Amino acid sequence: MTPLAVRRLVILLGLGLALLYFGAVRAAQPDREHRETLYVFGTLVEIVIFGADEAEARAASAEIGRALQRQHRDWHAWQPGALGDLNAALAAGRGRAVAPPLAALLREGRRLSCLSGGRFDPAIGRLIGLWGFHADTPPEGALPDPAAIDVLRRAAPRMTDLRFDGDRIASVNPTVQLDLGGFAKGAALDAAAAALEAAGIASAVLNAGGDVNVIGRHGARPWRVAIRDPFVWGTVGAISLEPGEVLYTSGNYERFFEQNGARFAHIIDPRSGWPVREIVSVSVLDSSGTRADAAATALAVAGRADWPQVAAAMGVAAVLMIDAEGTLYATPAMAARLEPAGGGFPGPLREVALPHLSAPPECDAY
Ligand code: ADP
Ligand code: MG
Repeated sequence: MTPLAVRRLVILLGLGLALLYFGAVRAAQPDREHRETLYVFGTLVEIVIFGADEAEARAASAEIGRALQRQHRDWHAWQPGALGDLNAALAAGRGRAVAPPLAALLREGRRLSCLSGGRFDPAIGRLIGLWGFHADTPPEGALPDPAAIDVLRRAAPRMTDLRFDGDRIASVNPTVQLDLGGFAKGAALDAAAAALEAAGIASAVLNAGGDVNVIGRHGARPWRVAIRDPFVWGTVGAISLEPGEVLYTSGNYERFFEQNGARFAHIIDPRSGWPVREIVSVSVLDSSGTRADAAATALAVAGRADWPQVAAAMGVAAVLMIDAEGTLYATPAMAARLEPAGGGFPGPLREVALPHLSAPPECDAY
């Protein structure tokens, strides 16, 4: 090697080292937080990516942003889109092929509905529309005609009326109208979290109005998430989420129909056709957003008497319920994780053990 060649090599190596060093400086900005907010599924979805390279974080959140917008459009309960086309076909007694992600979501919805004993049932879109919840703003004016509610109650549209042939979906009951509002957010956040992880993101939180999925930890600490107090501005407590955990809350304090001081929640009991009354807020800590979201809705319907049995059947262990009197009911798995807000819990906390149940055998078919 000539002396000139050696000098060039040394310069190149030096340059390489300098680049590596720069690379190390860029990657080692552990406090860097990339934040984005989107409006989808009727709520603000906040994406926080922690400790990643800025360009990578921006690309990953743009990708999941596009996916969330697509799901919002394809799964919308009352605006034109793929779900609307399927609903029109089902109402006309016809089957229709849908994209594989929607078919998979509907299969999972049918299984979760079965496990909940029909308390969670995305086939009740007509009832939800009748109660005025197929709009971006809360319903006002008169309550629906009880006779019309009764007609739908007796028609009993159920997810178990759906028939699948690959991605082709039909219904044996033409009153089935799909409304995925009870678990679409969970499914969308699960898919978004999986996409972020596939893009190499090691630490992130996805928050859709208090429904949260986390990836990894927030640096050395776990991600800490608060549960809103359903009665006053503030929180009932907080939970430190382990990597991959989710926390979902359903309540009647955000979207409701108010008449003469009575609140009619946007969660409807498929068996009566009327909104739930007893339960004000239900939180589920789990490893699947889809299941936690569906379970939170199902447990609100189950009410004070049945929720432990429904939680066990759906396979969720950590549940917090708050009833209209402000009493907190927590399963042992939830009580072990729930940390009180500053001045303690806002109401008495009762621990409720779940029964030992296996999943209802009739749901094995789904
Ligand atoms: P939030 O949207 O506040 O998180 P939920 O997850 O409980 O609350 O979803 C409520 C939505 O679920 C309603 O707006 C409606 O679209 C749908 N829904 C209402 N009742 C039921 C039910 N019994 N089963 C399945 N979906 C329901
Ligand atoms: Mg839900």
